Amino acid sequence: MAEKQLLLEVVTPDRLVVSTPADVVVCPGVEGQFGVLVGHVPFLSALQIGEMYYKQGGKTEFLAVSGGFAEVTGEKVTVVAEAAEFGREIDLERAKRARERAEQRLAAARTENIDWARAEAALRRAVMRMKVAGR
Ligand code: ATP
Repeated sequence: MAEKQLLLEVVTPDRLVVSTPADVVVCPGVEGQFGVLVGHVPFLSALQIGEMYYKQGGKTEFLAVSGGFAEVTGEKVTVVAEAAEFGREIDLERAKRARERAEQRLAAARTENIDWARAEAALRRAVMRMKVAGR
């Protein structure tokens, strides 16, 4: 008989990104990365812009996650994110362009009034997508 597994669901406003059994799920919590195995105590965590991954049958799948929340129960991890992409779905050139735009905006902050937090978050999304791309 198969070992008990978690059910992982990652959803965004646009789509159900994945719904899959998983042996372990690792998420970028705002207070640090956390891992979940079946039987974990229930909790809720805000997520930061970062990489998440899950393992299933010896395979590891990586996703880029742009904020949101994770709800954990003993049987299920539900990630509700503003955006989430598998590494293979990421357009690397697009992420590079987004990084350039964000860097230019932040550099312009010396002379212009810019929305610093917004530009900084765009930069973090772009750099994180570049890291996860192709994984
Ligand atoms: P951009 O300026 O390139 O649009 P962004 O960080 O502003 O980047 P988001 O608002 O985070 O983009 O995402 C908008 C949508 O586009 C989401 O559905 C997200 O999954 C997708 N997306 C963003 N960047 C990429 C990328 N480099 N490759 C694939 N999909 C992406």
